[in-house]
Amino acid sequence: MKIGVLALQGDFAEHIVMLSDLGVETVEVRLPEHLNKLDGLIIPGGESTTIGKLAVAYNLMGPLCQFGQRQAIWGTCAGAIFLSKDVSRDQPLLGLMDIKVERNAFGRQVDSFEADLDISELKQATGTDEAFHAVFIRAPIIESVSGDAKILASLPDGRIVAAQQGHFLATSFHPELTGDSRFHEYFLSLVD
Ligand code: GLN
Repeated sequence: MKIGVLALQGDFAEHIVMLSDLGVETVEVRLPEHLNKLDGLIIPGGESTTIGKLAVAYNLMGPLCQFGQRQAIWGTCAGAIFLSKDVSRDQPLLGLMDIKVERNAFGRQVDSFEADLDISELKQATGTDEAFHAVFIRAPIIESVSGDAKILASLPDGRIVAAQQGHFLATSFHPELTGDSRFHEYFLSLVD
């Protein structure tokens, strides 16, 4: 199995470490041809406007959308924003997931926080029972899901922070910044 990590901007290196620790071969994706022969793709956190502008500049928008027709894609934080259909402002989006996202929904950088999430799909898929410790850094929330998209995780107040739509996964938080590889394992289970 070969997994790409979009390496235009943001914390792609942390995803690569996590995948390598799981014994998965990785490729840094910066150009359309880097998508060849990949089984799945992770879009990291960072700044979604920057990732979008660079994806336009490197002619990646079309190839990424095409890749998503067949292969699994997971967006963390800025990556989740980039995967979404609607962020209530004008910026380049892949529009692959039927989710509406609100950027910086918890406030500024200093309002970043951590929380334990109870995610039944994750527990079931990995045969574990512990909550997932999630790191939120100037994070978005998923305002709503539509179509086939379903909610995977919410905060205690009901705000949605993870969603899945077939082979697409979106998380507001950063599993690559914890020692817990269960979300990466869960994503790999969506890759075929
Ligand atoms: N605030 C960033 C954005 O709106 C996302 C932050 C992150 O990826 N940690 O794109």
